[in-house]
Amino acid sequence: MLFNIVEKFYTISGEAPNAGAPVYLIRFTGCNLDCSYCDTEYKNEINYTLSFDDLVSDIQKAIHNYPSVSVLLTGGEPLLDDRQEALIKLASVLFQTTFYIETNGAIKISDFTAQNVHYVVDWKTPSSGYGNSFFLNNLGSLRPGIDVIKIVTSLDDLSVVLKNIEIIKKVNPDLGVYLSPQWGKISFVELSSFIIDNKLPVSLSLQLHKIIWGEQRGV
Ligand code: SF4
Repeated sequence: MLFNIVEKFYTISGEAPNAGAPVYLIRFTGCNLDCSYCDTEYKNEINYTLSFDDLVSDIQKAIHNYPSVSVLLTGGEPLLDDRQEALIKLASVLFQTTFYIETNGAIKISDFTAQNVHYVVDWKTPSSGYGNSFFLNNLGSLRPGIDVIKIVTSLDDLSVVLKNIEIIKKVNPDLGVYLSPQWGKISFVELSSFIIDNKLPVSLSLQLHKIIWGEQRGV
């Protein structure tokens, strides 16, 4: 299998659950959604095409150069098609490496056995244009303390967010949930007040990379 990749670089993880930690980010090409607020319009670029062995060796070099980093696999949608199976195999080959996989929630996750893989699963809200895309059957299988749900919200989405949190807590009570502001559509203060006023069992997740570097590519 060949992996099409947009970009890869070291950065500070911007979002839950390891926000603030250095990561080696690999952005895979392609996505099955086209969200209204997508900030990776370049997600269909192919700037590297790596074989499985090339990818293993690329990550090994990245970790050798910076031993404490974890690896963030993102996109686009990293779990598209047969890439999902290949990435799980990758994590089993590199079993001493910690992987975070950011997935958009609209794809069935097929493997929950890899202990070095943490899924960060989006639950898209209506303002994304994909409010009905969440693959609900994933919810019960996500592992508390390992995987998390992330919900990006605007002011207009807040009533749906309340309902979705209720569903999550019914199905998987101990699962970590992070709320993240849709950039420009709800302020940090508004989202923080929403969490506190509703006594929600969630954490705030800011897009730290945008706060640090602004809205630019490659960070
Ligand atoms: S799922 Fe992510 S990468 Fe895909 S269109 Fe939506 S925001 Fe962009």
